[in-house]
Amino acid sequence: PGVATEQAIHVVESHSAANYSPLPVVVREGEEAWVWDVEGNRYLDMLAGYGALNFGHRHPALIAAAQEQLERLTLTSRAFHSDQLGVFCTELAELCGMDLVLPMNTGAEAVETALKMARKWGYQVKGIPEGRAKIIVAGGNFHGRTISVISFSDDAVARRGFGPYTPGFVSVSYGDAEQLEAAIDDDTAAVLIEPVQGEGGVVIPPAGYLATVRRLCTRHNILMLADEIQSGLGRTGTTFACDHEGVTPDAYILGKALGGGILPVSAVVSTREALGVFRPGEHGSTFGGNPLASAVGTAVVRLLKEGTYQERSAQLGTHLEALLRALPSEHVSAVRCRGLWAGVDVIGRVGRDVCMGLLRRGVLAKDTHGSTVRLAPPLVVKSAELQWAVEQLAAVLAAD
Ligand code: PLP
Repeated sequence: PGVATEQAIHVVESHSAANYSPLPVVVREGEEAWVWDVEGNRYLDMLAGYGALNFGHRHPALIAAAQEQLERLTLTSRAFHSDQLGVFCTELAELCGMDLVLPMNTGAEAVETALKMARKWGYQVKGIPEGRAKIIVAGGNFHGRTISVISFSDDAVARRGFGPYTPGFVSVSYGDAEQLEAAIDDDTAAVLIEPVQGEGGVVIPPAGYLATVRRLCTRHNILMLADEIQSGLGRTGTTFACDHEGVTPDAYILGKALGGGILPVSAVVSTREALGVFRPGEHGSTFGGNPLASAVGTAVVRLLKEGTYQERSAQLGTHLEALLRALPSEHVSAVRCRGLWAGVDVIGRVGRDVCMGLLRRGVLAKDTHGSTVRLAPPLVVKSAELQWAVEQLAAVLAAD
C-alpha cells in the first residue's frame, strides 16, 4: 500500500473500535461498479456493500432524489407527518404485494421489528399464552448483531461474551423441512428464514424448501418472516429470492439496497393482520421513515418497478455462473449462484488471502466462512467487467 493508504488506515486503527478487519484499501470515490482509492487506483467493486449498492455507486436517479429532498426537508421525527413517508410506504407495499410498511434504519432493527411483530401477533391474534411465544430460526443464519439476534445465532464468535441471551428461539437445520415441522408446536408464532443464506456463504436451500416452509406456516397458522435484507431487491434475478419458488411470505424484512447505497433504510412489509398489531408507543425509531430516507426509498422502489434490474441480474447471473463453473476444479470445490450473487469455495486457500490477491489485481471482494469467496457486484456491472473479474480470480487461484 502507498503512504496515503497507510496513513489513513493508521488513523482509523488509532481511533475506531476494532470490530472489523477491512482489506487494506482506502476508498475515496465511486461510480457505477467502480471505486477509486486515495492513491488513484481503480477497483471493480464485486461486493457492492454486501448488496446495499445493488444500483451501483451514486446512481443518478437516486442521487437526484436525495439532492432534491436535501434542498427541502431532511427530518421531522415521527412526532409529525412528512409529505414523503406515505408515498414511500404506499409504493413499497405495492411492490411487495402487502398492506403495510414499518420503516426502520438498519437491517438488524428491521429484524427486531419483525420479531416483536410476530410475538405480539402470536399473543393477540393467534392466542398463544402470554410469555410463551416461540420463533423458529435456521442454523447458519445471519440476521444482524443485536443481543436478541445473536441469541439465536450459532456463530460462536458473534455470540461469545455477549450473554445472557434472549430466550424464545428454536433453531433447526437450514433446508430441512421435516426438522422444521417437528419443531412446530402450539406456541410457535413465526419462522424466520433467509431465502438464501448470505453471510452463511450464499447457501441456496434445496428446491421446494421455501414452498414447503410456506405450506407449513399456513397449515399451522404461523407467520413466515423472510429476511430478504441481502437477498431481496433484485440481487437474485427476481425482486425477492422467495419469487424463485413462487412464495409470498407473511412479511418481507428489507434493508441494504432499500437505501440505494446512500443512507440506511430498512423496513418490515407485511399484512394488515400482522403489522396492524402495533399501537402508538409500542415501537419506533427517531430516524425510521424520515423524509430523506423515504425519498431515496421511493426512488429505489421506482427503479425496481421497471423490472430491468431484476432482468439484468438474472441474465448477468447466468453469465457469471458459467464463468465461475469454468474455473479449474483443483482450485474450486463448489460454486453456488443465484442471480448476481455467488459463493465460490476455494481449495487449499483461505478466502481472505484470495481476496487480498484480488485486491492487488483491482477487484474488491469479501470472504465469508473461511474458504468461501462471495461475489455480489452491483447490478449495473457489465458483462465484460464480470469476465475480467473472473479472469483475475482465476489468476489469483493459479498463483502459488
Ligand atoms: N439480515 C441479513 C440477511 C443480512 O445479510 C444482514 C447484514 O448483512 C442483516 C440482517 C443485518 O443488517 P444490518 O447490518 O444493516 O444491521
